[in-house]
Amino acid sequence: MLQNSYVAWEGASLIDGSPIVLILTGFIIPTSNRKTGRQIQSWIISQNYVPTYAAKHGFDSSICGSCPLRLSETGSCYVNLLTPNNIYRSYITGNYPQFSDKELALLQHYRYPIRFGSYGDPTAVPLEVWEPIILASGKYTGYTHNWRETNSLWKQYLMASVHSIPEAKEAQNQGWRTFRIIAPDAPLSDNEILCRHTEDDRNQCSTCLLCDGKSSKPNIADKIHGLNWKVSNFLKYLESISN
Ligand code: SF4
Repeated sequence: MLQNSYVAWEGASLIDGSPIVLILTGFIIPTSNRKTGRQIQSWIISQNYVPTYAAKHGFDSSICGSCPLRLSETGSCYVNLLTPNNIYRSYITGNYPQFSDKELALLQHYRYPIRFGSYGDPTAVPLEVWEPIILASGKYTGYTHNWRETNSLWKQYLMASVHSIPEAKEAQNQGWRTFRIIAPDAPLSDNEILCRHTEDDRNQCSTCLLCDGKSSKPNIADKIHGLNWKVSNFLKYLESISN
Protein backbone atom coordinates (compact mmCIF):
# COMPACT_ATOMS: atom_id res chain seq x y z
CA MET A 1 0.00 0.00 0.00
CA LEU A 2 1.26 3.45 -0.90
CA GLN A 3 2.67 5.41 2.05
CA ASN A 4 3.14 9.13 2.32
CA SER A 5 6.86 9.04 3.18
CA TYR A 6 9.85 6.84 2.41
CA VAL A 7 13.50 6.44 3.32
CA ALA A 8 15.24 6.82 -0.04
CA TRP A 9 18.83 6.42 1.17
CA GLU A 10 20.99 6.16 4.28
CA GLY A 11 24.74 6.63 4.18
CA ALA A 12 27.77 8.83 4.71
CA SER A 13 27.44 12.54 3.94
CA LEU A 14 29.55 13.58 0.98
CA ILE A 15 30.26 16.75 2.93
CA ASP A 16 31.79 15.34 6.12
CA GLY A 17 31.27 11.56 6.08
CA SER A 18 28.85 11.39 9.01
CA PRO A 19 25.62 9.36 8.79
CA ILE A 20 22.70 11.08 7.11
CA VAL A 21 19.39 10.02 5.61
CA LEU A 22 17.30 11.11 2.62
CA ILE A 23 13.54 10.98 3.18
CA LEU A 24 10.90 11.67 0.53
CA THR A 25 7.45 12.87 1.59
CA GLY A 26 4.18 13.88 -0.03
CA PHE A 27 3.17 10.78 -1.99
CA ILE A 28 -0.36 10.86 -0.56
CA ILE A 29 -0.79 14.11 1.33
CA PRO A 30 0.59 17.02 -0.66
CA THR A 31 2.70 19.57 1.17
CA SER A 32 0.83 22.59 2.52
CA ASN A 33 3.63 24.83 1.25
CA ARG A 34 1.79 27.38 -0.90
CA LYS A 35 4.93 28.43 -2.73
CA THR A 36 6.11 25.00 -3.87
CA GLY A 37 2.68 23.52 -4.62
CA ARG A 38 2.45 19.79 -5.21
CA GLN A 39 6.08 18.72 -5.21
CA ILE A 40 7.49 15.61 -3.58
CA GLN A 41 9.57 17.06 -0.76
CA SER A 42 13.01 15.71 0.11
CA TRP A 43 14.58 15.97 3.55
CA ILE A 44 18.27 15.45 4.17
CA ILE A 45 18.75 14.92 7.87
CA SER A 46 21.56 13.86 10.19
CA GLN A 47 20.94 10.38 11.61
CA ASN A 48 22.57 11.39 14.90
CA TYR A 49 20.83 14.58 15.95
CA VAL A 50 17.37 16.07 16.21
CA PRO A 51 17.44 18.90 13.61
CA THR A 52 16.83 21.75 16.08
CA TYR A 53 19.61 20.47 18.36
CA ALA A 54 22.01 20.08 15.43
CA ALA A 55 21.20 23.56 14.13
CA LYS A 56 21.58 25.19 17.53
CA HIS A 57 24.95 23.59 18.25
CA GLY A 58 26.40 23.75 14.73
CA PHE A 59 26.24 19.97 14.28
CA ASP A 60 24.48 20.40 10.94
CA SER A 61 27.49 20.69 8.61
CA SER A 62 26.95 17.09 7.41
CA ILE A 63 23.75 18.25 5.72
CA CYS A 64 24.22 22.01 5.36
CA GLY A 65 27.94 22.25 4.59
CA SER A 66 29.24 25.74 5.24
CA CYS A 67 25.98 27.51 4.38
CA PRO A 68 26.20 30.97 5.96
CA LEU A 69 22.48 31.02 6.74
CA ARG A 70 22.75 28.31 9.42
CA LEU A 71 21.37 29.09 12.87
CA SER A 72 24.87 28.79 14.35
CA GLU A 73 26.26 31.21 11.75
CA THR A 74 23.97 34.10 10.78
CA GLY A 75 20.69 32.57 12.02
CA SER A 76 18.76 33.35 8.86
CA CYS A 77 17.90 29.94 7.38
CA TYR A 78 14.30 30.12 6.18
CA VAL A 79 13.41 26.48 7.01
CA ASN A 80 10.98 25.97 9.88
CA LEU A 81 12.76 23.19 11.76
CA LEU A 82 9.62 21.79 13.37
CA THR A 83 8.87 19.84 10.19
CA PRO A 84 12.31 18.17 9.91
CA ASN A 85 12.11 17.50 13.68
CA ASN A 86 8.84 15.58 13.22
CA ILE A 87 10.25 13.71 10.22
CA TYR A 88 13.39 12.82 12.18
CA ARG A 89 11.32 11.43 15.06
CA SER A 90 9.21 9.30 12.71
CA TYR A 91 12.38 8.05 11.04
CA ILE A 92 14.02 7.10 14.34
CA THR A 93 10.80 5.32 15.38
CA GLY A 94 11.03 3.25 12.18
CA ASN A 95 7.79 4.56 10.71
CA TYR A 96 9.06 5.01 7.17
CA PRO A 97 9.37 2.12 4.69
CA GLN A 98 12.22 1.93 2.16
CA PHE A 99 11.67 3.63 -1.17
CA SER A 100 11.65 0.90 -3.81
CA ASP A 101 11.26 0.29 -7.54
CA LYS A 102 7.50 0.22 -6.96
CA GLU A 103 7.43 3.86 -5.82
CA LEU A 104 9.93 4.78 -8.51
CA ALA A 105 7.50 3.40 -11.13
CA LEU A 106 4.73 5.42 -9.55
CA LEU A 107 6.85 8.56 -9.73
CA GLN A 108 7.49 7.82 -13.38
CA HIS A 109 3.79 7.29 -14.04
CA TYR A 110 2.53 10.47 -12.35
CA ARG A 111 5.64 12.57 -13.03
CA TYR A 112 5.33 14.31 -9.68
CA PRO A 113 7.81 17.18 -9.56
CA ILE A 114 10.52 16.90 -6.90
CA ARG A 115 11.92 19.59 -4.64
CA PHE A 116 15.55 18.78 -3.91
CA GLY A 117 16.49 19.69 -0.37
CA SER A 118 13.32 20.89 1.32
CA TYR A 119 15.82 20.80 4.19
CA GLY A 120 19.53 20.07 3.80
CA ASP A 121 21.83 20.47 0.82
CA PRO A 122 21.06 17.93 -1.94
CA THR A 123 24.77 17.55 -2.70
CA ALA A 124 25.35 15.83 0.66
CA VAL A 125 23.69 12.80 -0.97
CA PRO A 126 25.46 11.06 -3.89
CA LEU A 127 24.18 12.09 -7.30
CA GLU A 128 23.80 8.37 -8.21
CA VAL A 129 21.13 8.14 -5.50
CA TRP A 130 19.20 11.09 -6.93
CA GLU A 131 19.49 10.29 -10.62
CA PRO A 132 16.89 7.48 -10.83
CA ILE A 133 14.49 9.75 -8.93
CA ILE A 134 15.29 12.69 -11.22
CA LEU A 135 14.83 10.56 -14.34
CA ALA A 136 11.56 9.09 -13.08
CA SER A 137 10.06 12.46 -12.22
CA GLY A 138 11.59 14.53 -14.99
CA LYS A 139 10.57 17.72 -13.17
CA TYR A 140 12.46 19.28 -10.30
CA THR A 141 13.69 22.38 -8.52
CA GLY A 142 16.67 22.66 -6.21
CA TYR A 143 19.46 24.80 -4.80
CA THR A 144 22.92 24.29 -3.35
CA HIS A 145 25.15 26.45 -1.20
CA ASN A 146 27.86 23.87 -1.86
CA TRP A 147 28.38 24.87 -5.52
CA ARG A 148 32.07 25.68 -5.09
CA GLU A 149 32.87 22.20 -3.81
CA THR A 150 30.37 19.79 -5.28
CA ASN A 151 30.43 17.56 -8.36
CA SER A 152 29.99 19.89 -11.34
CA LEU A 153 27.43 17.49 -12.85
CA TRP A 154 24.98 18.99 -10.37
CA LYS A 155 24.88 22.15 -12.52
CA GLN A 156 22.34 20.48 -14.77
CA TYR A 157 19.87 20.03 -11.89
CA LEU A 158 20.49 22.69 -9.23
CA MET A 159 20.72 26.46 -8.89
CA ALA A 160 23.72 27.92 -7.06
CA SER A 161 22.48 29.78 -3.96
CA VAL A 162 24.29 33.11 -3.78
CA HIS A 163 23.96 36.27 -1.70
CA SER A 164 25.74 39.01 -3.58
CA ILE A 165 26.30 40.14 -7.16
CA PRO A 166 30.04 39.24 -7.11
CA GLU A 167 29.18 35.79 -5.79
CA ALA A 168 26.49 35.40 -8.47
CA LYS A 169 29.01 36.34 -11.16
CA GLU A 170 31.54 33.86 -9.79
CA ALA A 171 28.99 31.05 -9.93
CA GLN A 172 27.69 32.06 -13.36
CA ASN A 173 31.26 32.15 -14.70
CA GLN A 174 31.58 28.55 -13.54
CA GLY A 175 28.46 27.58 -15.51
CA TRP A 176 25.87 27.70 -12.74
CA ARG A 177 22.53 29.42 -12.92
CA THR A 178 22.03 31.38 -9.73
CA PHE A 179 19.33 31.99 -7.16
CA ARG A 180 19.97 35.14 -5.13
CA ILE A 181 18.01 36.25 -2.09
CA ILE A 182 17.88 40.02 -1.95
CA ALA A 183 16.70 42.74 0.43
CA PRO A 184 13.06 43.77 -0.20
CA ASP A 185 14.06 47.05 -1.85
CA ALA A 186 17.17 45.82 -3.74
CA PRO A 187 17.26 46.01 -7.54
CA LEU A 188 17.63 42.97 -9.77
CA SER A 189 20.72 42.45 -11.93
CA ASP A 190 20.35 42.64 -15.70
CA ASN A 191 20.43 38.88 -16.05
CA GLU A 192 17.97 38.08 -13.22
CA ILE A 193 14.20 37.92 -13.00
CA LEU A 194 12.11 37.94 -9.86
CA CYS A 195 10.81 34.61 -8.55
CA ARG A 196 7.50 33.95 -10.32
CA HIS A 197 5.71 33.21 -7.03
CA THR A 198 6.77 36.56 -5.57
CA GLU A 199 5.67 38.21 -8.80
CA ASP A 200 2.23 36.59 -8.56
CA ASP A 201 1.37 34.16 -5.77
CA ARG A 202 -0.81 32.05 -8.07
CA ASN A 203 2.48 30.75 -9.56
CA GLN A 204 3.94 27.73 -7.79
CA CYS A 205 7.28 25.96 -8.14
CA SER A 206 5.52 22.72 -9.13
CA THR A 207 4.50 24.25 -12.45
CA CYS A 208 6.96 27.15 -12.77
CA LEU A 209 10.06 24.91 -12.55
CA LEU A 210 12.39 27.79 -13.43
CA CYS A 211 14.78 26.79 -10.65
CA ASP A 212 15.90 23.59 -12.33
CA GLY A 213 19.61 24.16 -12.87
CA LYS A 214 21.54 24.63 -16.03
CA SER A 215 19.56 25.65 -19.07
CA SER A 216 18.90 28.77 -21.06
CA LYS A 217 16.45 30.03 -18.44
CA PRO A 218 17.28 33.24 -16.55
CA ASN A 219 18.87 33.54 -13.15
CA ILE A 220 16.40 34.10 -10.33
CA ALA A 221 16.31 36.54 -7.45
CA ASP A 222 13.81 36.58 -4.64
CA LYS A 223 13.04 39.01 -1.87
CA ILE A 224 13.83 37.84 1.64
CA HIS A 225 10.71 36.92 3.57
CA GLY A 226 9.77 34.93 6.64
CA LEU A 227 9.99 35.46 10.38
CA ASN A 228 11.05 38.99 11.35
CA TRP A 229 14.11 37.90 13.33
CA LYS A 230 15.38 35.76 10.47
CA VAL A 231 14.85 38.58 7.98
CA SER A 232 16.68 40.96 10.31
CA ASN A 233 19.60 38.51 10.68
CA PHE A 234 19.75 38.05 6.92
CA LEU A 235 19.84 41.80 6.25
CA LYS A 236 22.70 42.14 8.77
CA TYR A 237 24.52 39.36 6.94
CA LEU A 238 24.03 41.09 3.56
CA GLU A 239 25.40 44.29 5.06
CA SER A 240 28.43 42.46 6.46
CA ILE A 241 29.35 40.96 3.08
CA SER A 242 28.88 44.24 1.23
CA ASN A 243 31.45 46.05 3.43
S1 SF4 B 1 11.14 31.08 -9.78
FE1 SF4 B 1 9.59 29.48 -9.95
S2 SF4 B 1 10.63 27.54 -9.38
FE2 SF4 B 1 11.95 29.27 -8.71
S3 SF4 B 1 11.37 29.59 -6.53
FE3 SF4 B 1 10.13 31.01 -7.79
S4 SF4 B 1 8.20 29.89 -8.20
FE4 SF4 B 1 9.73 28.36 -7.51
